[in-house]
Amino acid sequence: MNPKILLLGPPGAGKGTQSSNLVSEFGVEHVTTGDALRANKEMDISDLGLEYDTPGEYMDRGELVPDDVVNAIVEKALTSADGFVLDGYPRNLDQAEELESMTDLDVIVSLSVSEDELVDRLTGRRVCSECGENYHVEFDQPEEAGVCDACGGELIQREDDREEAVRNRLEVFAENTEPVIEYYSDREEFVEIDGEQSLEGVWADLQATVDEVA
Ligand code: AMP
Repeated sequence: MNPKILLLGPPGAGKGTQSSNLVSEFGVEHVTTGDALRANKEMDISDLGLEYDTPGEYMDRGELVPDDVVNAIVEKALTSADGFVLDGYPRNLDQAEELESMTDLDVIVSLSVSEDELVDRLTGRRVCSECGENYHVEFDQPEEAGVCDACGGELIQREDDREEAVRNRLEVFAENTEPVIEYYSDREEFVEIDGEQSLEGVWADLQATVDEVA
């Protein structure tokens, strides 16, 4: 059995990048609600009788997509996975409770990064509109401005990386997701890693942590 890993942390902590490393190194599946929802932004959820009719309307504002929609995505993905890194879920205590009923976890990692650093990272982030590769206007520039090194696609700013949405996402994180980290923090499986180190530094700590349970 491959390890079951939960990766927690604020938006911009590097969960996506480190998840890719975990997939390559440990053969786990990357289960990420953010990507799953981006692929289904226009899905019609009007029959649920909620505030908005599509996931995208919540996402572009930096708000959480309702639990029913997200729980269903995760439940489906976890049942078919042999080992996983779960990234972007749970984001509130109700989702954390729901997760308890779906699976158990081998290791719970929290990546910590200060708020000022997160704002810089997120508002400067650019993503390839074709292949999804990440760049940063200051810290990780492509060879040619606005063009993806990997595939030549156009680099764009995610709607929710604009400053107003970023502030909203960080508020939503403080209010809803910090309690989730608190909830897990006294578990035996819980490990906190300093997410302000270099990518290589974070990866070294993370790899060592997962090696212990793999
Ligand atoms: P991310 O790429 O993880 O930052 O997610 C982007 C957006 O997708 C978030 O700002 C939310 O609108 C939505 N989202 C992702 N995961 C969840 C979740 N577990 N619960 C509710 N909304 C989510």
